[in-house]
Amino acid sequence: MEMSRVLEATLYLTSIALADPRLLKVYRMYVDGVGPATIAEVTGLSRDSVRGFIRRVQEKAGTPRAETVLRHLLPLLMSIEPIVVDGWCKVCNTYVGTGIAALQHVRTMHRDLVLRISLQIVEELRRRVRA
Ligand SMILES: [Zn+2]
Repeated sequence: MEMSRVLEATLYLTSIALADPRLLKVYRMYVDGVGPATIAEVTGLSRDSVRGFIRRVQEKAGTPRAETVLRHLLPLLMSIEPIVVDGWCKVCNTYVGTGIAALQHVRTMHRDLVLRISLQIVEELRRRVRA
């Protein structure tokens, strides 16, 4: 695996896990082969949003690799404790909203935290792939 691209995808997915882990369901369903229309129905997101979430990881990880990367990453991402709870960011004690608004907040305001956790996850991923 190309680790730089894996890190790119991990940074994005870690932001999601910190901001609103419900959005990870999009990826869980995607790797299970569920189509965007059904994912949209189940998650309450628009089809365009669902396609956007999937496309972003494909662009970062590389299309043929995205599913494999997600399969490995999802269990690790699920163990991340979100910093946004009920729309409140616990780090800066500010109301930031949920979903894409929360994601935007985490990606812009808490880059250091996202990077630190992402590096740990990539390291853990390396160990697992090597083992
Ligand atoms: Zn914050």
